[in-house]
Amino acid sequence: MSAQDCLFCKIISGAIPSNRVYEDDDVFAFKDINPQAPTHVLIVPKKHIPSVASLTEADVAVAGKLITVAAGLADSLGIADRGYRLVVNAGEEGGQTVNHLHLHLLGGRRFGWPPG
Ligand code: AMP
Ligand code: ZN
Repeated sequence: MSAQDCLFCKIISGAIPSNRVYEDDDVFAFKDINPQAPTHVLIVPKKHIPSVASLTEADVAVAGKLITVAAGLADSLGIADRGYRLVVNAGEEGGQTVNHLHLHLLGGRRFGWPPG
């Protein structure tokens, strides 16, 4: 799938509306449309990277930034003290449904382990 057909690229460009919670030159974050917890935010690179499996050396900085932004959002959204979960689904068995790399930030309830 090309970036032109990508749902999250369209959200980043504003062609499809979203509830944005953060944006900088490299990263965009918005509320998940089908939240699995009281707080459920998706943090994505602005560059179209299909999956965590497609990351290259050139993406090391933006990959690190996704996690750093997620931790900062956990703080600003008030879930950091209780704890939260960061999730990256990859591929079919990993449960990835949108082929643009995204980090799930989930919080506001207790999560089980192992995951389902
Ligand atoms: P994954 O299953 O890890 O690929 O996650 C994709 C996520 O994107 C799911 O949690 C969906 O609820 C979410 N999602 C799909 N469409 C939209 C949308 N238009 N706006 C916000 N989140 C979306
Ligand atoms: Zn994309």
